[in-house]
Amino acid sequence: AKHAGRDTYRFFTAQMNVDVLARLEMEKALRKAIENEEFELYYQPKVYLKTGRITGVEALIRWNRPGHGMVSPQFFIPVLEDTGLIVRVGSWVIATACKQIALWRQSSVGALQISVNVSGQQFVEGDLDGDVISALTENDIPPHLLELELTESSMMVNTERTIAILDKLKKLGVQISIDDFGTGYSSLAYLRRFPIDKLKIDIAFIRDITHNADDAALALTIIRMAHGLKMEVIAEGVETIGQLAYLRHYRCDHIQGYYFSPPVTVTELEKMLLSAKRM
Ligand code: C2E
Ligand code: CA
Ligand code: CA
Ligand code: CA
Repeated sequence: AKHAGRDTYRFFTAQMNVDVLARLEMEKALRKAIENEEFELYYQPKVYLKTGRITGVEALIRWNRPGHGMVSPQFFIPVLEDTGLIVRVGSWVIATACKQIALWRQSSVGALQISVNVSGQQFVEGDLDGDVISALTENDIPPHLLELELTESSMMVNTERTIAILDKLKKLGVQISIDDFGTGYSSLAYLRRFPIDKLKIDIAFIRDITHNADDAALALTIIRMAHGLKMEVIAEGVETIGQLAYLRHYRCDHIQGYYFSPPVTVTELEKMLLSAKRM
């Protein structure tokens, strides 16, 4: 047993060294990626259930890493957050999304809202309000076409500062939504303190909605609470017609998920929009 224990220990440290090296290498590659502009935004449509129309899209970052193909954000966002690089990448995401809003407004696509994911550090270390205001002004776009998706944990990094920034942006007309709603640790009281327009029900409550009564009850409760507070609701991770039927019945306002479309490139999205697919 002692022997096995020692082997386990040795294996564990060796694995840790591999992880540390891989991490350092990724950090180096990410710094280069920022210089070389290796990031790209994919867009996933959101469907407004009352009309069946696409009224907005979520911007989801991808890293086109040389020799590795498209890297999913789940592998590199945590590294960007640990290293503080997320502040620079986050500004790039906001600037790129606002440029895209302007391009679409001037094309046959028309007015389409884009939501961007925002990390907690962007509120504390970056100049989030400055970034947003300059992106809106430089591209001359109406602020309501930009939405910020915040997680409960990102709102809790520095509550006072975050509320001040959000209040300022909200006054301009920028939309605010809470991402992954229901999975964080914060209390319901913050729903009154933050200027929130929309709740996004986490995929964890949607996944088994058709056959798990507790999940269905939670989803329905979130929808009713949001409507009671004059907020809109969107469900993420909708993959089946059965899930869609439940959400429609519960009066969920918007849905997003593979059932309608995965995140796609600008070109693919434009094709989809112009072929006027309806739900
Ligand atoms: P998220 O904001 O919760 O985004 C939803 C994730 O679920 C996306 O993964 C999306 O591709 C995926 N998804 C969409 N529809 C479905 C579905 O029907 N079923 C399932 N199983 N998954 C679906 P993705 O693109 O890999 O992004 C992962 C996470 O990375 C995001 O989770 C978000 O937290 C983060 N992220 C992405 N882009 C950015 C960014 O620009 N900035 C920041 N700070 N974080 C980002
Ligand atoms: Ca999101
Ligand atoms: Ca999520
Ligand atoms: Ca998230």
